[in-house]
Amino acid sequence: MNKPADAAAAHVTNFIRNAIDADLASGRYASRTWGGAPGPAATHAGAPGDPAKIRTRFPPEPNGYLHFGHAKSICLNFGLALDYGGVCHMRFDDTNPEKEEQEYVDSILDAVRWLGFGWAAYGTEHLYHASDYFDAMYQAAEYLVTAGHAYADEQSAEEVRAARGTLTEHGSNSPWRERPAAESLARLREMRDGRHADGSMVLRAKIDMSSPNINLRDPAIYRIKKATHHRTGDKWCIYPMYTYAHPIEDALEQITHSICTLEFEDQRPFYDWLLARLAEGGLLAHPLPQQIEFARLNLSYAVLSKRKLIQLVEEKHVAGWDDPRLPTLVGARRRGYTPEGFRLFAERIGVSKSDSWIDYSVLEECMREHLNQVAPRRIAVLEPLKLIVDNYAEGAQEECLAPNHPQHPELGKRALPFSRELWIEREDFMEVPAKGYFRLYPGNNVRLRYGYVIECTGCDKDAAGNIVAVHCNYFADSKSGTPGADTYKVKGNIHWVSAAHAYPCEVRLYDRLFRVAHPGAGERDFLLDINPDAKRVVSGRLEPALKQAQAEERFQFERHGYFVADRIDSKPGAPVFNRAVTLKDAWQK
Ligand code: ATP
Ligand code: MG
Repeated sequence: MNKPADAAAAHVTNFIRNAIDADLASGRYASRTWGGAPGPAATHAGAPGDPAKIRTRFPPEPNGYLHFGHAKSICLNFGLALDYGGVCHMRFDDTNPEKEEQEYVDSILDAVRWLGFGWAAYGTEHLYHASDYFDAMYQAAEYLVTAGHAYADEQSAEEVRAARGTLTEHGSNSPWRERPAAESLARLREMRDGRHADGSMVLRAKIDMSSPNINLRDPAIYRIKKATHHRTGDKWCIYPMYTYAHPIEDALEQITHSICTLEFEDQRPFYDWLLARLAEGGLLAHPLPQQIEFARLNLSYAVLSKRKLIQLVEEKHVAGWDDPRLPTLVGARRRGYTPEGFRLFAERIGVSKSDSWIDYSVLEECMREHLNQVAPRRIAVLEPLKLIVDNYAEGAQEECLAPNHPQHPELGKRALPFSRELWIEREDFMEVPAKGYFRLYPGNNVRLRYGYVIECTGCDKDAAGNIVAVHCNYFADSKSGTPGADTYKVKGNIHWVSAAHAYPCEVRLYDRLFRVAHPGAGERDFLLDINPDAKRVVSGRLEPALKQAQAEERFQFERHGYFVADRIDSKPGAPVFNRAVTLKDAWQK
């Protein structure tokens, strides 16, 4: 399996690791064999011992783009497999024929690879599709019927619902519950053969209509759906229910630890019931997989529900699935977030058994930490204002040296051209300084970072009174890095680019998509909480070296934050930049 560089880092332990440690210590899974591919007991019987110490899986439904919550699950499942000498299966849970598309499949695989994980191990690609198991699932259903553990129920959906009972009341048995197995089997086969209409009957597990756990009150396991599946076409017109399919998928793949989110906790008894019945029938071999639940990621200032993400895209509140404002992994990639940042985030938030909210700033801080290490420093003026150095010879130019990374001197320095006309940030000048303002104002001295100390002499205005240029004189003996330069004591240190050499460029300043921590809290429409300033586009003046930036190259623009050359809109020699994250958290109250 591809091993991300940071995988060897020390891990904080957690209840899942503890469970795995205990299972390895007790040898719970030691007797497992692996027949080389997923399959029922017969596939693995007599095969060599499984070289994978544990098997986990990441099982997305290919019905949307992955979001930050999935990143948590990916890092967890693939990460555990790496750490424990196991394998994590990449599995498409494509048992629902509707809403599933190849476009999603491709983007999911891309996202997992982008995060730094892979599914090749022991000479095989562990890339699986639940739809490949439809035959095995169907055979399991026939077995359950034959063994008296399932029946065809011809009640309407309405009747089934009415008989289910409530949290406080038992359900009642279906009139079809005690029909002979042969009759149920015949109905099941007719269902399979397309002889009954959608919704006219279902196959149900026969468990206990008076169970306090509603999920055990004869749950439906197969339904009729005359739909075309994106992989199996029209071969099937009955499809397994998710809660029936998932345990079987795990078992066929010899998964040891099936890690899922907390809302499936109440399904665990059915998971275990089903696998135990199929093992009794010899379809599955012991040891069986176990389901372990953890709290899903809830992230403030974001929404991680597929439905809401779809709404944002379809109603065009954002430009598409890869809009850098969206908490999708394709969006994050465009925005300049990094896989290393996500892995650090997953490690830092850990896993727990109780639902909680993670503040968005935790994610941002992880991105900053990684970007700070790897992003070369560059100069960009984002809201440009002309600065004229009146005592600098017209037509003259020279070079100033700037370090590529202050913490990595080995990355060297680069030359910044200096000339008489420069661009500075508009907010680095005030005609009348506010209290405590120590940047440019008439009469004040500041250092042009990596260049000279200048004294501000005044400004030009247009007819409307807008400041259009600032004037200054420079001190020829004050150049950074030259002897005596540090005898100049100034409080302000501002960045600049030479006007004649600058690369004028579109820069997108992204921020959080929502302006409140809990979008749509209460009965509120979450769309009303969209942050209108989550995207600002400015025309920056960048140091000339940035013109050659490759798509997806990342930089720190000094004083501004971390930026990436947009992977879609950048052209060779003409990159445009997206801000991934600011240098400091401006949201903390
Ligand atoms: P839905 O059930 O609405 O279709 P989903 O987000 O559960 O959406 P899946 O494709 O079923 O989508 O998810 C794949 C895996 O990712 C599952 O194992 C699920 O538990 C996990 N996952 C999804 N959302 C989160 C989240 N917010 N935090 C952690 N894991 C998540
Ligand atoms: Mg799901």
